[in-house]
Amino acid sequence: QADLAMYQAKAAGRNSLSFYDPLMQARLNARATLEADLREALAAQQFVLHYQLQFDAAGNALGAEALLRWQHPERGEILPGEFIATAEETGLIVPLGNWVLEAACAQLRRWQQAPAQAHWKLAVNVSARQFRQPEFVDQVLAALAHSGADAHGLKLELTESLLLEDIDSTIAHMRTLKWHGVGFALDDFGTGYSSLAYLKQLPLDELKIDRDFVRDLHSDPNDAAIARAIINLAANLGLQVIAEGVETAAQRDFLVREGCQSFQGYLFARPLPADRLAPLGTPTPT
Ligand code: C2E
Ligand code: MG
Ligand code: MG
Ligand code: MG
Repeated sequence: QADLAMYQAKAAGRNSLSFYDPLMQARLNARATLEADLREALAAQQFVLHYQLQFDAAGNALGAEALLRWQHPERGEILPGEFIATAEETGLIVPLGNWVLEAACAQLRRWQQAPAQAHWKLAVNVSARQFRQPEFVDQVLAALAHSGADAHGLKLELTESLLLEDIDSTIAHMRTLKWHGVGFALDDFGTGYSSLAYLKQLPLDELKIDRDFVRDLHSDPNDAAIARAIINLAANLGLQVIAEGVETAAQRDFLVREGCQSFQGYLFARPLPADRLAPLGTPTPT
């Protein structure tokens, strides 16, 4: 409603736009509905985390990435692509992201108490708006404290655009969290505009090769060259490297040959609720 009022006020003030635009109106209505639904969903605890395992080249599980799902009472499972952008625009990503941190740290703690998973790292996606809040560092530390999880198991996934927005405050946030043991991965690497000079300044631990480059490794020589360059860049900067979206053995074999250390994708595992991962990490009785 506020959006609509603002739009109408703006439209009235700008002559060229002071006509009724049904498409714009419909879009605003849809956004307002989604925003209200998201607020309700948060209160009604309709969000859950799924976990997609990550593996080394020998097939050992190294940990997982937490991926948010909305369990809608009528529509069933809704993926983040349908609601994260609106959550960011409306600021709802802040309470939602905080819920993700709390839930992820609680899961991390459960793994840390199980011998077979105690070494696992849990990667959590963080959006720019969430990271920019002055309270962000405290929220991460609070989620760790509430759960009792060891910070060394937590890895935050940031994107290039987030990192470049305000490099000084970004580095300050990262350094503080790093001092506590939290790690950082640069998600979707290669799709943004990172300058390599900046990259060197950031206290990163890992680069994630974006799924876009992995998909066409075999049909597009440019993508293969980019993937190879990212793997070499990571090695030269002393960072770990993981490929996301690995779906075929041929993609994995190419990446292994090029020196990639870690893998995530449907070839290895789909994102699943935590209780459905357990058997994968349980040691076989002797
Ligand atoms: P992302 O962080 O790059 O996560 C990887 C996405 O690729 C996930 O989509 C995952 O399900 C999908 N994926 C993994 N392996 C494969 C594969 O082999 N093939 C294909 N085609 N896809 C694969 P998902 O879960 O739909 O999430 C989409 C994006 O939403 C994420 O991209 C991330 O940017 C965002 N997101 C997810 N959870 C959260 C969250 O808790 N907070 C925030 N701020 N963003 C989140
Ligand atoms: Mg991610
Ligand atoms: Mg990614
Ligand atoms: Mg991606």
